[in-house]
Amino acid sequence: MKGVLAFLTLVVVASSRENFSGQQVLRILPVDEEQMNVVKELENLEHLELDFWTEPTKILAPVDIRVPFPNLQAVKVYLESNNIQYYIMVQDLQSMLDEEQMEMKHNRAMEDTRSTDTFNYGAYHKFDEINDFIDNLVRENPQLVSKIQIGKSYEGRPLNVLKFSTGPNRPAFWIDTGIHSREWVTQASGIWFAKKIVKDYGKDTSLTSILNNMDIFIEIVTNPDGFVFTHTSNRMWRKTRSPNAGSSCVGADPNRNWDAGFGGAGSSSNPCTETYRGRAAESEPEVKAIVDFVKSHGKIKGFVSIHSYSQMLLFPYGYTKTRTPDHTELNNLAKDAVNALSSLYGTAYTYGSIITTIYQASGGTIDWTYNQGIKYSFTFELRDTGRYGFALPANQIIPTAEETWLALMKLMEHTSSNLY
Ligand SMILES: [Zn+2]
Repeated sequence: MKGVLAFLTLVVVASSRENFSGQQVLRILPVDEEQMNVVKELENLEHLELDFWTEPTKILAPVDIRVPFPNLQAVKVYLESNNIQYYIMVQDLQSMLDEEQMEMKHNRAMEDTRSTDTFNYGAYHKFDEINDFIDNLVRENPQLVSKIQIGKSYEGRPLNVLKFSTGPNRPAFWIDTGIHSREWVTQASGIWFAKKIVKDYGKDTSLTSILNNMDIFIEIVTNPDGFVFTHTSNRMWRKTRSPNAGSSCVGADPNRNWDAGFGGAGSSSNPCTETYRGRAAESEPEVKAIVDFVKSHGKIKGFVSIHSYSQMLLFPYGYTKTRTPDHTELNNLAKDAVNALSSLYGTAYTYGSIITTIYQASGGTIDWTYNQGIKYSFTFELRDTGRYGFALPANQIIPTAEETWLALMKLMEHTSSNLY
């Protein structure tokens, strides 16, 4: 009887997880304005249940769309009848995710998560394991690292932030990862950054000088409800998990929920879309907690919010074409940072303001932080450029974190030596 019950439980758990069998990711390269409009029209065809991994932005910029199996033929016919070329980037999403699960089990089998020295940085981890990592790092380095809880997620999970500090009342540099929950390489990189800081402090001249001048904050799991959901139910979940009145669709896009051009173009009022902005600016507790923290701290001088994928380093603005007064300085700094990043493995990055480099996006994180007076506000889109998209294999975690760290160091060095 016990065995039967256990078996039934297993079946229930297994079937409650979204299955992506037969789903493909199509890459489309619109060659002119007319084709762009045809592709954009797909976004309005809600019944197709398309998930735009990258949005239509400009001519010849790739648009990656995840298509549910039953709608594949309809989408392909639609594209072909409009003479739009596409190719199949992911043949079967579920088999890619099955591989990810196997790799995850294999990589974690050998590790001992009781210490940050035996933790496997080249593996993906669950929410509780990341929280254990955070507690271990604090316990092992009490003079340098502390944990602060800046709030709670909609479902009541702690919003934990690591604070690296060597003295009181310092200005600070903020880094967050995982505000979009499915971008797993970002949370994994955040973990690596945290360990890198404790390893380098007192040994690496540059990092030591930065930390003797300012504090560093890292929020690794910035959207914990969404992150847990990617592990238990739907690996492709991006948004928060708050309910929407009058709709069965759940969650808001926490990168459209900030009070900077809120509600403008490049965000949606439809709760069933991936870029739903939420009912009001700061409606999502995960966003409000950072807003309150930034305001009460008052001395955050650099702010980096990390996403994937596309290999880009971006700065404000996203909601308006108006250049910021600091455009030239930010552009030069981005160039330096990207050069440093590429120097390690040759990974190619583009950089620029959000609206000129990707697309108009309203209510984004770094537009708000910039308007709040944080001059050095940046967003990364980490690896890759679409071969694996959000399901980046775990063997790319460490190289991704290593190269990104070189760029982060440029941004932190510049901030630390240009405090304002
Ligand atoms: Zn993102």
